[in-house]
Amino acid sequence: MKIPKAIQNLIESFEKLPGIGSKTAQRLTFYLLHVPQGKLDSFANSIQNLKKGTIICSVCFSVDESDPCSICSNPSRDKSTICVVEEPLDVLALEKNGRYKGLYHVLHGKIDPLNNIGPDEIYIRQLIDRASGSEVEEIILATNPTMEGEATAMYISRQLKIENSKLKITRIGRGLPTGADLEYADELTLQRAMEGRSDY
Ligand SMILES: [Zn+2]
Repeated sequence: MKIPKAIQNLIESFEKLPGIGSKTAQRLTFYLLHVPQGKLDSFANSIQNLKKGTIICSVCFSVDESDPCSICSNPSRDKSTICVVEEPLDVLALEKNGRYKGLYHVLHGKIDPLNNIGPDEIYIRQLIDRASGSEVEEIILATNPTMEGEATAMYISRQLKIENSKLKITRIGRGLPTGADLEYADELTLQRAMEGRSDY
């Protein structure tokens, strides 16, 4: 028996997603076969509108419904502090406990030479430019405590020091388990890591 084309197409689409192998792709596809058409339509609709309904903030490069985003345009946020993270999901993780009142800068990745991602492939230049603004006093490096995250933090720190020696540069605290992703850390760990940040 040959697998119908429609099923094969969906399996292949799922396989392109991160963390989904061919077994999971097959399981998801066959699961969806049992879902009523109306629910499938609304699922497809959500995917279709994903990009149309979102915009990348031209200041911090976070993802939101407006540009500048709701954080950058909020007058009560502390503009003297910029927290640098790898992905938009990290912003959500840090915003969840609501203690941090500064701004963010989303790199959209990390320096990763094995995958051909150098400093110019992510939003580092834009951060250096932002940091040269007179309002900015502290840059918190909150990249993940992985090898690539550390290398990225180190690179950014060096660049920032070249441009502006007076800037306070801190690295998010050690409470985070090495190799972990920020987005998976629980709120308390994140809060402690933020409070326990040290000069870098
Ligand atoms: Zn923004």
